[in-house]
Amino acid sequence: MMDFDEALEQFDPALGLEVHVELNTATKMFCGCPAAFGGEPNTHVCPTCLGLPGSMPVVNGKAVESAIRIGLALNCSIAEWCRFARKNYFYPDMPKNFQTSQYDEPIAFDGYLDVDVEGETFRVEIERAHMEEDTGKSTHVGGTTGRIHGAEYSLVDYNRAGIPLIEIVTRPIVGAGVKAPLVARAYVQQLRDLILALGVSEARMDQGNLRADVNLSLAPKGSDRLGTRSETKNVNSFRSVERAVRYEISRHAAILAAGDAVVQETRHWHEDTGITTSGREKSDAEDYRYFPEPDLVPVAPSAQWVEELRGTLPENPTAKRARLQAEWGFSDLEMRDTVGAGALGLVEETITAGAAPQAARKWWLSELARRANEEGVELSDLAITPAQVARIQALVDEGKVNDKLARQVFDGVLAGEGEPDAVVEARGLAIVSDDGALSAAVDDAIAANPDVAEKIRGGKVAAAGALIGAVMKQMRGQADAGRVRELILEKLGAGEG
Ligand SMILES: [Zn+2]
Repeated sequence: MMDFDEALEQFDPALGLEVHVELNTATKMFCGCPAAFGGEPNTHVCPTCLGLPGSMPVVNGKAVESAIRIGLALNCSIAEWCRFARKNYFYPDMPKNFQTSQYDEPIAFDGYLDVDVEGETFRVEIERAHMEEDTGKSTHVGGTTGRIHGAEYSLVDYNRAGIPLIEIVTRPIVGAGVKAPLVARAYVQQLRDLILALGVSEARMDQGNLRADVNLSLAPKGSDRLGTRSETKNVNSFRSVERAVRYEISRHAAILAAGDAVVQETRHWHEDTGITTSGREKSDAEDYRYFPEPDLVPVAPSAQWVEELRGTLPENPTAKRARLQAEWGFSDLEMRDTVGAGALGLVEETITAGAAPQAARKWWLSELARRANEEGVELSDLAITPAQVARIQALVDEGKVNDKLARQVFDGVLAGEGEPDAVVEARGLAIVSDDGALSAAVDDAIAANPDVAEKIRGGKVAAAGALIGAVMKQMRGQADAGRVRELILEKLGAGEG
């Protein structure tokens, strides 16, 4: 491994990202089986998705619609006519022994997505977005790693076989230099935001609805050729995308600097150790012996339909970010940090749920970002919703808790103790503003600090801070500090005068 910064002094990285998006259609790509996640193994199956002889596939129109909308949102051209192809290879979780995919006739091609990275815009060119079907799922039992090596036996579940996928492939992304890991992360983040805005997928990386393969190659600095690439498969969080790119840059650099050749291969990403290991040597496309799928008619969307779908697109993400920044009154830096933390959608929902923009930003980017970081998860994976964050801020605004107590409300909600109001109740976190309880605590504080009390009587109002501190301590931070101050001054006959 070569140090990351040293690697980038010697080499230029080229990135490529292949993202698979599992569509949220009701049924599978080529049959009427439910496309829902999970279910008892092998219950969402039929002769077509099991590849039984004589069964005939039919294209899911809703999936084609989603594919076109994704293509349009990525500024792609939409094919007037295209076909499916058979991609031939043997794999135990592919019951047909080929995957129905698209090869040289993708539904969408030649687009781009502009991504923001630390205030700079990188245009990521999209080569193609094509339709295909998901495979089944193998489970290897009896080994220690969950991989096939060392396993005693394997189980296969075909529920996922045939679920519609869109594969989005970028052109090589060059010129990002040291920012390459951040560009990769920002691309996947912003692509996911777009998919969610389109409403075509649940886009949950932890459930595999959105899976990223990260290609990386290095070329000697200043060279205009591309080096040999590695393809790291199924990198399933934003953070891992960034880490995988960093790791591969250091790994490639060490190999090249030693005068060796990088092997073109797929690699596995290990979330726990943050490294990649060798998978299989990558066969070239020809080895798949693609040919047009004879059992399916071509897909030929009319220009009128494509235009109708264009009318259903969500607001362009770049324009949307500019609009939200103006509405929320965020500085460039605040907006950049919000986008960079993957918190834009969460902050937006929190504001929609009633929180002030700065309060929404503060909670997600400080308190919650710290906790996500400690747990090594994404913000969106935390067990708290934007509505709950908005409610906690409302409790602060209503004077029921202060910021310090609010942190304990976050603890409770994240620990699964229920809604914010229930946590305040169960943990007894509400601020005490009842004069009876406060008055007794103020009397105690005056009695315990006679010299301070004397100063205040003599007109040194500033000394009240020490008594307020004593009361707050006695009341475990749950006193209404403003009311405590009033009571102290009243009892000691020292007006603010
Ligand atoms: Zn089926």
